[in-house]
Formats: sequence, C-alpha cells, structure tokens
Amino acid sequence: MLKQLNSLIIQAALASWTLATCAHAQLLSHSPQRDIEQGAEVAKLVERQIGLCSLPATEAYVREVGKRLVAAANDPRWKFSFQIVDQEEPNSFAIAGGGIYVSRGLLVLLEREDELACVLAHETAHVTQRHLAREQRESLLPRLLSVPGNLVGRVVGENLGALINAPVDVAGGAWLSHYSRKQETEADRIGIRLATQAGYQPTALADILQRLERDVRSQSGKEQRFSILDSHPMTATRLKDIQRHATSLTAVAKAPVAADTAALFSKLDGIWWGENPEAGVFHKDQFLQPVIGFALTLPSGWKHRNTPEYVISIHTNHEGILMLGLAEPAADPETPGQQFVQQMRARAKIEPISARKTTLGSFPAFLATYLDRSGRTSVYLHFLWVTMAERTYQLIGLAPEQHRETLKDAALTLRPMTEAERAAVTGKRLRIVAAHRGERLEDLGARSRNAWSPAYTALANGLDVEAMLSEGQLVKITRVEPVPR
Ligand SMILES: [Zn+2]
Repeated sequence: MLKQLNSLIIQAALASWTLATCAHAQLLSHSPQRDIEQGAEVAKLVERQIGLCSLPATEAYVREVGKRLVAAANDPRWKFSFQIVDQEEPNSFAIAGGGIYVSRGLLVLLEREDELACVLAHETAHVTQRHLAREQRESLLPRLLSVPGNLVGRVVGENLGALINAPVDVAGGAWLSHYSRKQETEADRIGIRLATQAGYQPTALADILQRLERDVRSQSGKEQRFSILDSHPMTATRLKDIQRHATSLTAVAKAPVAADTAALFSKLDGIWWGENPEAGVFHKDQFLQPVIGFALTLPSGWKHRNTPEYVISIHTNHEGILMLGLAEPAADPETPGQQFVQQMRARAKIEPISARKTTLGSFPAFLATYLDRSGRTSVYLHFLWVTMAERTYQLIGLAPEQHRETLKDAALTLRPMTEAERAAVTGKRLRIVAAHRGERLEDLGARSRNAWSPAYTALANGLDVEAMLSEGQLVKITRVEPVPR
C-alpha cells in the first residue's frame, strides 16, 4: 500500500511545485512579519531534521560576527539569528525572516574571520532582498500520511510524518534553497558591501568559496555529498564579479572579534569533522548511539538515516519503515503505551487489533498493533515501548504482512551498549597544532597523529602541501578521539 500511495504523493508534489513557481508575486507581497512567522516554522524543522551543534563557544563567536553584519545591514524588519547546523558538508543557508545557518563542515575550513563574515553576509543579503528560494523538497511520505481516510496518516499524525520524511529531505538537500543566478549575483554584491561596512575584507568571499570548491572536489565520490556550492554554484564569471566588486570597495579596518589566527582557531578547536559520533554511528546495518547508550541492528538492504530524534530505516521501495526514538521519560513501557492507545481512541477513534504487555528479550515492553485495510495491501502498524537501562524507547514499524518478521527481528536486536562498545565509537575532531621551523605538513601530521592526509591538511589550511612551515605557525589537523563522557 505504501507503494500504491507513492503515485498520489507524486501528484501532490507536482501540484505544489506549480504553486510554488506561480506564487512569486503573492509571496513577495507578504509582510516581513509573515516571513518571520513562516521562518519560525522552518527553524523548528531544521532543528528536528538536521539538528544544531552544541558548541557554546563557537556559537557565541558566530553570533558575534553575525551581530556586526546585522548592525551594518540596519534593516529592523528582520529577526536575525545565527546558528550552527550539525552537517558535515560545508554549507550555509538562510530561511525566511532572518534565520541564518552555517554548518560545522564549513567552519572547519575557515582560515580568517573575514571568510566567515562574507559567507554570513551573503546569506543575510538573501534575507534582506527577500529572495524567494525554490525549495526542492522531495515530499514523499507526509503527503502519503495526509491522504484523507488513511489510517496510517491518522495514527502516525503530521508530526511524525514530517520526521519520516526527514531522511528524504536531508538526503535531497532540501535546505539548499535554489536561487536564480540574478539573485546570487545580487546576494554576492550586497553581501560583500555589507561585510565591508562591518569592517571585513570583501575579497575573503572569493577565498572561502574557492577553498570550499576544492574541498567538495576532493571529497567527491562520497555518497550524498552536497554543499553550499549546489545552491550557490561557483563559476568563473561569479568569481570575477566578486573580485571586481570587492576591489571597488574600501574596507574600513576594524579589529575582528577573534583578534588573531590563534583566537579564531581556539573557537574552532574540538569541532567534529565528518561523522559526528555523538549523534550515533552506523557500522553497516548496526546503529550505535554512545551518548544514549544503545545498539540496534536495522533491516539489511533497507536505507538507514539518523535524525536528531529518530533513527530511521526505510525499505528501498518504501514498503516499510522502522523508527526508533526515545519515549517521554517513563518508569515502565506500559504507561506511555496505554496513553498512546487512549489518544488514538479519543482523537482518531481508532482501536488497535491488539495492545498488550510483552517482553523484548529480557526487557519489559508494551506492544500496540493497528491494521490499515484501506489500501490494496493491508498494512500493520506496530508501536512498541521498551524500558532498558532506565530509558524507555519507542519503536515504530509500518509494513505489510510480508515484512512483519523483518521488523520483529530488527526490534529484537535493540539492547544497551557495553562499555567497551561505547569506548570504541570514535570520530575525528579538529585540533590545532603549532609547527616547528622548517617542518612540512607530512612531518607535522606524523608527530601530531593527524587523521587527515598531508594533501587534505594543505587544502583545509589554505597551504601548499610542500610548504615549509614557520616556528609556531598554527595548523588545523584532526585526531581520532572517543566520545567524551
Ligand atoms: Zn546564495
């Protein structure tokens, strides 16, 4: 049935696409207040689907640089905010009303504060110029869930629907709003003027964009690699335009927020590069969450995604879904389970075909099963709560009969992680090393246990791979480290 509904979804998606392209004039006549309201909704989705980084010192720094740009923009219609998204890809984007995001993957590549300022200023310009982004959101499942009379939709609800859709959204780069070339040129020009007024070097935009481009090229071939360049393509014309405009502006020298390279790098020190192990890692089909402390093996051959709230596995033809999240804190699995059954009864007048206490391995559990016969194939909806190691988890499995065993087998693999497994989950963290006089990146890397190759270290530091370093010169490296306790 999930399959059958896909065609409906595609129709709905096409309808909304047409609307989006025709609604240009109408959207621009919105009040800025309306932009801010819409933006607040999108901001919630960014948090739930991509997630924000918890890096207090780095965040405070990005906000401080942002504040200078906001002061220079002097446009009180918008409610600006600057936040760091937990994306390994180098990326930045703006949402309606003034929400501006930069990814940890981009921050790692910074060499100067001017570069950060220029990127943020470019996004600020998209907001102030009210550039209408064509969001390429590949909405699949939420539309499925909103089909009237469909039990899946009524049981799962819109909230969960947005999350089920999350893997599709994030993978498809939904947050990479696509602007027209004209809008890009405008954002570049206005952005660098803004950066200049705020006391920054406007030519830094070209520097960071070129470094990003080299980074994306060096990483290409990696699955689902996307970047700021997808939404902001770098062309020779664009580069020339940036350089021409930048040189026509007179920079007002102003002390940066971070006084020097050491101060800037200290703000970046500790950022995870690549996968963030604190969010959990996949080892093939096994998912390990070292912070919460559980392991789960997902159905083999299904597509797995990790979002801030759920780890999700979807059958390749969308015939089934398995999701695991944390339930509200509860001492036993029955309380949240019974509450859910009651809510379904009260709100949607839906009765489960069974709701009972059970066990998952040796752990107490509560299982409620619903059956949706509205489609050609009946779909089972299993909601399982299980309490282990003082936490209550919620597992949701939706699939027709044929995948029932697959869901059950996967659910049975849920267990607390051992201390040894926890310690074995590692990631790469950005660290700063001072070079010795005459040292080369290769030697510096060897003595500092740098996880990056000399070539990538050169790229990330804007250096030549054969460069002779000077005494005390600060170099960004990454080290393999476990998740802190
Ligand atoms: Zn742009």
